[in-house]
Amino acid sequence: MKELICILCPNGCALSVADDQSELAVTGQKCKRGQEFAIAETTNPTRTLCTTVKTSFPEMPVLPVRSATAIPKERIFDVMTEINQILVTEALSSGTPVITNVLGLSIDIITTASLENTH
Ligand code: SF4
Repeated sequence: MKELICILCPNGCALSVADDQSELAVTGQKCKRGQEFAIAETTNPTRTLCTTVKTSFPEMPVLPVRSATAIPKERIFDVMTEINQILVTEALSSGTPVITNVLGLSIDIITTASLENTH
């Protein structure tokens, strides 16, 4: 039996997942999304990664970025290592990829703010 809290809405339902060999049985959810969340968390947990990259612009030394889609939780540390190697040296608009297909995961890392060129 695994216990977890659904993070999909403010209700924060306390979920229990029982593995009865042939299937996962979820209890405690107030809606169907909780069941899907609990099964995904048990079989393939993912998270959207929000962080920053360094820039060469003194007036904006870091630029916010996020993964375009959710990343398998066990790869987040590896993806952060890739992101930490990036230095943005040109003006970029919001939504621009700074890494495409990071680590072959078919996930882009995109900007979530614009970087104006004031050099
Ligand atoms: S199970 Fe449904 S109601 Fe409960 S926290 Fe998750 S999304 Fe919200």
